[in-house]
Amino acid sequence: MHVVLLGPPGVGKGTQGVLLADALGWRRIVTGDLLRAQRDAGTPLGQQAQGYMTRGELVPDPLIIAMVREQLATFASGTSVIFDGFPRNSSQASAFKMMLETLGLAVDQVAVLEADDDLVVERISGRRSCPTCGAVYNQSLAPPNRDGFCDKDGIALFHRADDEPETVRHRLEVYHRETEPLIAYYEGSRAPVHYIAGDQAVELVQTALREALGVGVGAS
Ligand code: AMP
Repeated sequence: MHVVLLGPPGVGKGTQGVLLADALGWRRIVTGDLLRAQRDAGTPLGQQAQGYMTRGELVPDPLIIAMVREQLATFASGTSVIFDGFPRNSSQASAFKMMLETLGLAVDQVAVLEADDDLVVERISGRRSCPTCGAVYNQSLAPPNRDGFCDKDGIALFHRADDEPETVRHRLEVYHRETEPLIAYYEGSRAPVHYIAGDQAVELVQTALREALGVGVGAS
């Protein structure tokens, strides 16, 4: 199963993707996390990506596509994968389609998490992430057990520089212009597109997501 999660930054794709992957034993490809890891390791790709990320712009497609292809190649065949943050525009979606086709695969389902821009900006200001495992918390909505530290590995959480309100507004503009049209693109594909209200409690979104994907609570 190959599932694309779409939705604006801060709507909860990361949180929902982790819950789903953990519950079902699926893998995730999260291009934002992969880029942050490259940036933090100071690799040539990370250095090239850094400026775009800080400004909230999209990193050039060839870099992203190569990165996703490389990551996908590390998974055993038959692995179910959740894609979070990719594809981000129509050329990435076409390249992704071809990449999967060469492996005899396709996007099987798409889930769109929806929320108003104002809510997203508000939520993102409380967002804290684990630099090691990628777990995402929200200070008011989904706080960690111990304030400031990851529940899974005890590492200190951080607030992303590109989560400042002004940059978030810009990332939302980029989302509406570049990424939102992919909803129509996938509506025209063979993959069913599911719409989930992202402005509910984390557990309710997760339940709705699993029901939509047909991997209901307790199923795998
Ligand atoms: P995210 O964590 O998904 O919000 O991504 C953080 C930043 O990484 C974005 O604002 C972009 O600069 C970059 N990025 C992540 N995924 C992609 C992608 N698929 N294409 C281009 N840039 C990306």
